[in-house]
Amino acid sequence: MSVLLISSDRFANHQTPPGHPERAERAEAMDVVAAHWRERGGEVIAPRLVTPEQLARVHDVEYLRRISETAGQAMSLDPDTYTSSDTYEVARLAAGAAVDAVERVMGGPHTTAFALVRPPGHHAERSRAMGFCFYNNVAVAAAHARTLGAHRVAIVDYDVHHGNGTQHMFESSPDVLYISTHQYPFYPGTGAVDETGVGAGSGFTVNLPLEAGAVDEDYRIVFAEVALPVLRQFKPDLVLVSAGFDAHERDPLANMRVTTAAFAAMTMELRAVAAECCGERMMLVTEGGYDLRALTASLETVVQTLAAPLEPARWPASGIASNRGRVAADAARRALKPFWRL
Ligand SMILES: [Zn+2]
Repeated sequence: MSVLLISSDRFANHQTPPGHPERAERAEAMDVVAAHWRERGGEVIAPRLVTPEQLARVHDVEYLRRISETAGQAMSLDPDTYTSSDTYEVARLAAGAAVDAVERVMGGPHTTAFALVRPPGHHAERSRAMGFCFYNNVAVAAAHARTLGAHRVAIVDYDVHHGNGTQHMFESSPDVLYISTHQYPFYPGTGAVDETGVGAGSGFTVNLPLEAGAVDEDYRIVFAEVALPVLRQFKPDLVLVSAGFDAHERDPLANMRVTTAAFAAMTMELRAVAAECCGERMMLVTEGGYDLRALTASLETVVQTLAAPLEPARWPASGIASNRGRVAADAARRALKPFWRL
């Protein structure tokens, strides 16, 4: 099979205070999914540590020094971002898994790799830890892919929160397209529809802010009318996915009503784009997802969808009417009109 999983039981060693949503059991859910994949004959590898040079492509060197000083210590870096004595190592393994995944997909026999990691990454800024994130795993992966010959890299972020760090790291670049669906207004406050990029990067930031309560059909609309047409016009050499599952209807941190089946549909839509543009080269890395049952089921269904024959996406019929997707798609079309045919 051409799908590779990258996973490590050491991801559980990043411990947060009792009751914190980013709890170690999230790593156990990932271990279950990796074990199932192995039982089915799939390949699972352990990650290597990211290198300082790989991190320094998107992070400030002084910031990297500050994070390295947390080694062996339990500290608070932000009102909701904590280290344990092992976090420094675990965070380097998480970013290293994303880098490994890109290398395997760019140069190896696998078309698709999924890095099952924690801590997550998309809130991490160039010189600031926030929102449970230390190193911006998907951004480190995108920068690495550029050094391996990917001229145009697309990042699709369907985590329920806006990936402020990822947007800021690439907002001036026409080479890295960032597309995010997220609950809005919501943490971290960024991701308005009129944030479309800066300077030469104008048009290469695509925000699809959705009002709380959005359902599968709302996601289908913003994918079909904005995200997928922009991706096809951009023609990426590699598709990266910030795969957060906190838009799930069971998630305790957010207020969306996405079902497990819709994550399969989004995955199939993105596979189709990757098949058309870049020989199906695709790398996914986990972000949030705080209901363990929903996280496990969503990860399982995404892995199965990545390994299944390519076919038209099957969006679930929610039966629930909502205008949230329509409002978001219309606003995004207006904001992005100067840059894309929508
Ligand atoms: Zn999130």
